[in-house]
Amino acid sequence: MESFYHRLGKVETSGQALLVSGLIATTCSLASSAGAFWAYRTVDTPFLSLAILMITLVPFFFILASSFLLLRGFQILERNNKKLSEEVERDNLTRLANRYGFVRHGRNMLVQAGLQKAPLSLILLDADHFKNINDSHGHLAGDLALQHLAKILRQACRESDLVARWGGEEFAILLRAADLSGAHGFAERLRERIAESPFSWNGKQVELTMSAGVTEWQHNDDDLHNMIIRADEALYVAKSKGRNQVQVSHQQIDQVEGFELDVEFCDAAA
Ligand code: GH3
Ligand code: MG
Ligand code: MG
Repeated sequence: MESFYHRLGKVETSGQALLVSGLIATTCSLASSAGAFWAYRTVDTPFLSLAILMITLVPFFFILASSFLLLRGFQILERNNKKLSEEVERDNLTRLANRYGFVRHGRNMLVQAGLQKAPLSLILLDADHFKNINDSHGHLAGDLALQHLAKILRQACRESDLVARWGGEEFAILLRAADLSGAHGFAERLRERIAESPFSWNGKQVELTMSAGVTEWQHNDDDLHNMIIRADEALYVAKSKGRNQVQVSHQQIDQVEGFELDVEFCDAAA
C-alpha cells in the first residue's frame, strides 16, 4: 500500500494524472465487464431489462472514459516532451539556439547542402572587450548587452539561417545558400550594424563591436568541426588585427575578391 502511495506521489503533470486515471478507468471497465457478465449469468431479478441495460452501460462508460483519458494523457505528455527537447536546444539568456541546438540543426543543414549541392557558410562572431562591459557597468548590463546583440543577429538573418549563442559572448551563424563571398559581405554589414547600434544602459549609450571569422563549407568537410576550426582561426586573426573587423579563413582567402593573404597572421592562426 505504501508503495502504491509512493508511486502516486510521482504523478506531477496533468498528462501523468490523465494516464493514471485512464489506467484506473481501464481496470474499472474490465472489472465491471466481468461483474456484468457474472450477474447476467447468475442473478435472477424481476427487473431483468433494467439490469441488462445497466450491465451493458457501466462497462461501456468505463471503456469510453479510459480511452479518452489515455488519449489525452499521451497527447499532453508528447506535447510536454516536445517543449522540453526544444528547451534543451535553446540558450536561456538570448533565446537563440545553444551550442547543442546549433550542432544538431547544423548537421541537418550540412546534409541538405550536400544533397542540393548548394553552398553553406559559417560566421563565428565574438564581442570585443566584453569583459570591460561587465567590469564597468556590471554583470546585468553584460547580460542585457548579449540580449541586444542576439536581437540584432536574429533580425539580420533569414528564417532559413541558423543563429546560435556558441558560448559566453560568442555567436555562430550558419548561412544557407551563401558562398564565401556572400557570407563575407553579410558579416561585414552585420559588423557595421552592430557598431552603429550602441546599447542603452542607465540612460547612457554603451558602444559594442564584434569581430568575425568566416568560412565556407567544403564538400570534403564531413562535419561542422572543420568549419568551426577554420572560422575560429579567422576570428583569431580578426582579433589580432585590432578587432571590429571580419576575416575569412586563410585557407579560402583567394575566393574573396579584394582580400590579400597576410602571411604573418595566417601563420599565427595556423
Ligand atoms: P576579446 O575582445 O579578446 O574577445 O575580449 P573579451 O573581454 O570579450 O574576452 P574575454 O574572453 O577576456 O572575456 C569574455 C567575457 O565575457 C568574460 C565573461 O565574464 C563575459 N561573459 C561570458 N558570458 C557572459 C554572460 O552570460 N553574461 C555576462 N554578463 N558576461 C558574460
Ligand atoms: Mg570569447
Ligand atoms: Mg570577446
